[in-house]
Amino acid sequence: MNVFDRLISTSLPLVPKPIVRRIASSYIAGETLDDLITAVRELNGEGFMVATSILGEFVRQREESEQAVRDYQEVLAAIDRNGLDSNIHIKLTHFGLKLDKDFSRDNVRALLETASGYPNFVRIDMEDASCTTDTLDVYYQVREEFENVGVVIQARLHRSLDDVRALAKVRANVRLCKGIYIEPHDIACTDAEEIRSNYTKLLEELLGAGCYVGIATHDERLVRGAFQIIDRLGLEPSAYEFQMLHGVLPELRRVILNEGHRVRVGVPFGPSWYAYSVRRLRKNPMIARYVMKAMLSGS
Ligand SMILES: Cc1cc2nc3c(=O)[nH]c(=O)nc-3n(C[C@H](O)[C@H](O)[C@H](O)COP(=O)(O)OP(=O)(O)OC[C@H]3O[C@@H](n4cnc5c(N)ncnc54)[C@H](O)[C@@H]3O)c2cc1C
Repeated sequence: MNVFDRLISTSLPLVPKPIVRRIASSYIAGETLDDLITAVRELNGEGFMVATSILGEFVRQREESEQAVRDYQEVLAAIDRNGLDSNIHIKLTHFGLKLDKDFSRDNVRALLETASGYPNFVRIDMEDASCTTDTLDVYYQVREEFENVGVVIQARLHRSLDDVRALAKVRANVRLCKGIYIEPHDIACTDAEEIRSNYTKLLEELLGAGCYVGIATHDERLVRGAFQIIDRLGLEPSAYEFQMLHGVLPELRRVILNEGHRVRVGVPFGPSWYAYSVRRLRKNPMIARYVMKAMLSGS
């Protein structure tokens, strides 16, 4: 991101909400369950699997987490009722992690019980480094009871190789991503090449250990590198999946699909779209151009 892009991106909270909404509409399915169903149906029709999430994080009241569980249970029912190919992913801070770890674990357990009945799968996203140890603890606890649960590892963190080796022992289902949160130097790589190289090392470790991996990246170099590892290990497409976010590089996901790999698209929805959108837009190096164009066109 150049200096101009960075300036615009840090000023995003000052950009009028309707403009952010318009730019962000390609990243989220919409506000309602009906919006979600329409988006999932469309992606399924193009051959993509989906991972659905309800926008929300860092709740302050237990009731908000209990409501999140009920909302996700409704999403699971809608996925089943409509015959959609989608699992779900959740954030533990939405489920009350920062209020009480055991409370968040019990909320995840309640959701996993519902998901098992369909059957469907729940992935626990990885949030900032203040959540890593607790998220893995909760994962290991619920994994003792449930198979239909997965977790996420961030290639940016120095600890991730140790975490991956521990997860390999339980043949965990792991999504591997670079990591969206900028963390301090002492715990995380800050150099883009270092993060890439760590990503490749972790991917080899996980796939080599027989773990099912969600290869979550839009970085074409990492995607090509993953193709080589898959080839070398002689893996069937059922042993892994690529994962990308709604609205990000749709051409690349079509290329991956056309090469015979499975691709899952992460599709968030819900009324809390503004905070999520600002975070997504900040990551986009094209942001300055989009925002300026929208503002100049007066919309
Ligand atoms: C399915 C999925 C789930 C994820 N889950 C988590 C998680 O649980 N925890 C976590 O910390 N991180 C998560 N991430 C985010 C991830 O860690 C990265 O921050 C993000 O994907 C950008 O890294 P990249 O590998 O795509 O490579 P980059 O080099 O950052 O991106 C490659 C290219 O993709 C495009 N691009 C990438 N991201 C965006 C974006 N948001 N908006 C617009 N264009 C973009 C740009 O053109 C960029 O040049 C997830 C990512 C995906 C795809």
